[in-house]
Amino acid sequence: MDCIFCKISKNEIPSKTIYEDDLVKVFLDINPISSGHMLIIPKKHYSDFLELDEKINNHIHKISKDISNLLIKKLNPDGLRLITNYGINQDVKHYHLHIIPSYKAKDNISNVDDIFNKLIKWKNSLS
Ligand code: AMP
Ligand code: ZN
Repeated sequence: MDCIFCKISKNEIPSKTIYEDDLVKVFLDINPISSGHMLIIPKKHYSDFLELDEKINNHIHKISKDISNLLIKKLNPDGLRLITNYGINQDVKHYHLHIIPSYKAKDNISNVDDIFNKLIKWKNSLS
């Protein structure tokens, strides 16, 4: 199947990965809405949120809280949005959860490489 997020999960195409385990991968969005905009994907292909089973859903939920706590700690956002798109709103048909920080002050959307360098220090430190 020609799925860009399956390729990312298998490291066939590069990503700015912040965290991964057997079930999920978390990486920076290539076209961020705000500084620190990330995506959580299951490594296995599920087309959308309606296809997720309970086990992977629970795991993604747990990781989304860990990642949110780390974003709050490292980037000091004023808010966060967790979004999943479906149907005509969903461009990539491999389930993904967006974690999007919000800032009261003007966010000049830092370069993805700069954000990655800031966050990479806590790669694999989610426990
Ligand atoms: P959507 O399917 O509309 O929920 O959003 C897909 C998201 O995937 C967009 O925010 C894209 O910027 C992002 N995206 C697409 N390709 C890549 C990629 N190769 N690496 C990181 N993010 C990507
Ligand atoms: Zn896929």
